[in-house]
Amino acid sequence: MPETREVIIIGSGPAAWTAAIYTARALLKPLVIAGEQGGGQLMFTTEVENYPGFETGILGPELMTAMRQQAERLSVEIIDQNATAITKPGDLFSVSLTSPNTPNTLTARAVIIATGATANTLHLPGEDQLMGRGVGTCAVCDAPFFKGRKQVFVVGGGDSAVEEAGELAKFAQHVVMLVRRDQLRASPILQQRITRLQNIEIWYNADATELIGDKVLTQVKVTRQGRSEVHPADGLFYAIGHAPATKFLAGSGVTLDAKGYILTPLSTVISGQSFQLPNAYPTATSLRGVFAAGDCVDPRYRQAITAAGFGCMAALDAQRWLERNSA
Ligand code: NAP
Repeated sequence: MPETREVIIIGSGPAAWTAAIYTARALLKPLVIAGEQGGGQLMFTTEVENYPGFETGILGPELMTAMRQQAERLSVEIIDQNATAITKPGDLFSVSLTSPNTPNTLTARAVIIATGATANTLHLPGEDQLMGRGVGTCAVCDAPFFKGRKQVFVVGGGDSAVEEAGELAKFAQHVVMLVRRDQLRASPILQQRITRLQNIEIWYNADATELIGDKVLTQVKVTRQGRSEVHPADGLFYAIGHAPATKFLAGSGVTLDAKGYILTPLSTVISGQSFQLPNAYPTATSLRGVFAAGDCVDPRYRQAITAAGFGCMAALDAQRWLERNSA
């Protein structure tokens, strides 16, 4: 019979490591199922300048390594496998893993899900080698690095794209939005804000088709109104939505929204989706004893620091829930 943990945390981004650090310090001996390619979105980021505590910034992968090492120093147990399902056959949760090398089902009294989300991209030629080298998925994070740059592109026409273009326009000389249809999807109020800005241009019926550059992005190939063109580019940001990593929760009893984000009472505040659970903790899911934090819950803020904050909240909620529901 495998050992039953107090709490299993699934994920390995800022939300997961913060939850691990808090639950370890609460003597709950957490087990983290960190995934086969751990670290989350910050593993694909270069400089992080907006995470407090690092005066001159820190590289994304270094920040994630430091968080993991902090958890390890607190004796957090870590399994680098993917979770494939959560079930609750009796009083305990069972978490299934992919690997045949570890006991393939682990049991716990409580679970914290912090599996994050992946930014959608177009998988264009050149993208793999230029990601983090002029090509990115979070302009709000990286805009200051584009100070004084001549031309930066944003792909997408939703609220995020408009916000990202607005943020880049504070720093770059010229920002071009590539919108695949003949209209924006963004809310009218956000549209109004950017149309006032002189240095943002919107190209409709325009698609990026190739990213060109040796060490960094230098040009973007675009199909515009049916014509193929090549334009100089200092940067290109995708803002075409995110996909939360929650497919493994199908059939678990954890309620997701239409896009796959986990619903918790905090969703009412974060994404305006009313989700009331009587007497529940803010990070509780519809499955009692399962909590959720970070980008798998949050389509709105999506920052390392907000994910870490939500991870802390989920850890404290899980701790209180365990105290009140221990056998
Ligand atoms: P979104 O609303 O789904 O918009 C995605 C945009 O990307 C759309 O313009 C879409 O074009 C485009 N797109 C999708 N796939 C594409 C492809 N393959 N090639 C080119 N373009 C593509 O996503 P979002 O902007 O990230 O927003 C997500 C949610 O967060 C929304 O509910 C949004 O309202 C909310 N949000 C709110 C705020 C705010 O209130 N301040 C800020 C950010 C996000 P089509 O229009 O043609 O589909």
